[in-house]
Amino acid sequence: MSNSISLESRSVHDPEVHHYNAPHQVPLVAASSFCFDSIQQGMAIFDGEEPGHIYGRFGNPTIDAAAQKIADMEAHGTGQTAKGLFCSSGMAAIATAILGVLDGPGRVLTAPDLYGGTVSLLQQMEKQGVELITCDLRDLEAVEQHLRKYKNIKLIYCETPANPTLKITDLKGLANLSHAAGAKLIVDNTFATPMVQQPIALGADVVLHSTTKYLNGHGTGVAGALVTTDAALFSDRFVPIYRLYGGSGNAWDAWLVLNGLKTLPIRMERHAANALAVARWLVEQPLVELVNYPGLENHPQRQLAARQMRSGGGMLSFSLRGGTEAAYRFMNSIDFCTLTPTLGDVDTLVLHPASMSHRGLDPEVRRAQGIPDGLIRLSVGIETVGDIIADLEQAINAS
Ligand code: PLP
Repeated sequence: MSNSISLESRSVHDPEVHHYNAPHQVPLVAASSFCFDSIQQGMAIFDGEEPGHIYGRFGNPTIDAAAQKIADMEAHGTGQTAKGLFCSSGMAAIATAILGVLDGPGRVLTAPDLYGGTVSLLQQMEKQGVELITCDLRDLEAVEQHLRKYKNIKLIYCETPANPTLKITDLKGLANLSHAAGAKLIVDNTFATPMVQQPIALGADVVLHSTTKYLNGHGTGVAGALVTTDAALFSDRFVPIYRLYGGSGNAWDAWLVLNGLKTLPIRMERHAANALAVARWLVEQPLVELVNYPGLENHPQRQLAARQMRSGGGMLSFSLRGGTEAAYRFMNSIDFCTLTPTLGDVDTLVLHPASMSHRGLDPEVRRAQGIPDGLIRLSVGIETVGDIIADLEQAINAS
């Protein structure tokens, strides 16, 4: 397949099935192991001298097609070659990436307001000699000071847009500072997807996904992916951890993600168009005191968002006057949208961070992170936008 096709076309086409008499879709391979013609061939494949599949935990044609497609999409247009691993969950991809980059004890610099599972994972890793240092990664001067103060930071870990505040971090600036300090930059790109933002183009070394979200897109499976352009990091660190820690994904989830990726470009366009329309409507509502959406004209980091994102994406949050009680009344009045803790599905999903994803945080710390008691997170779906707004309107009135 030509390398010059567009990102959208790569999402639709699979080189694995572009040859005579191939099945027209990447097949779902349900086999735990693969056969060799001879013992010599088996040894050559084991040693990586000949290409070939060995054992399901190491990958298989379906799993590898999904991993390479995500890698190709993340690196598309950058002139770089990326490799990917398809993992059993977003958390497996995150753990593999952090363990691989650190390669033993070491210092990690990150923001305090990451996805809760990632914070808990890093806290677990503190028992194994990982030292966690946090600062506001949006503040590049603070990042520079921390890199000077704490020597030997091995990795900077970033999520942008952040959950659920939709704060934006300058990835190019962060990558430059990371590399000057000899650290690798890992970016969780779950919220944006490669259709909205390509961290590799901005200097990131590793990109992560919870494919559970937009890449699958239909809420039908839990999986994750890891992508890097660093060939040595990939083969010497990530592949052994992937194979030995048991975090590899399965063929069924990979196949679902391959299906999901085909419509990712048009889904993301519609998610973003609907999110912008909902955000503009929310701004006009007297009972709404704050709207966070990077595509809004008055988002405090609008210019940065426009530089590194192709759209505002499908996620937004807004705060209701009336705090927790108003938020509870809103959540219990939602009818068309769905109250559920995931994001990135085709239908509109609603979450109350203070009582769900961020309930473990001290309320003062939570508020200081920009998550007031009345904040609602919306994963705006691809339905008719009028139906989404009508449901929000009746629920806001009931709040
Ligand atoms: N990264 C982000 C931004 C997430 O929101 C999540 C889960 O919600 C994860 C990673 C973890 O992914 P998974 O649930 O697929 O393990």
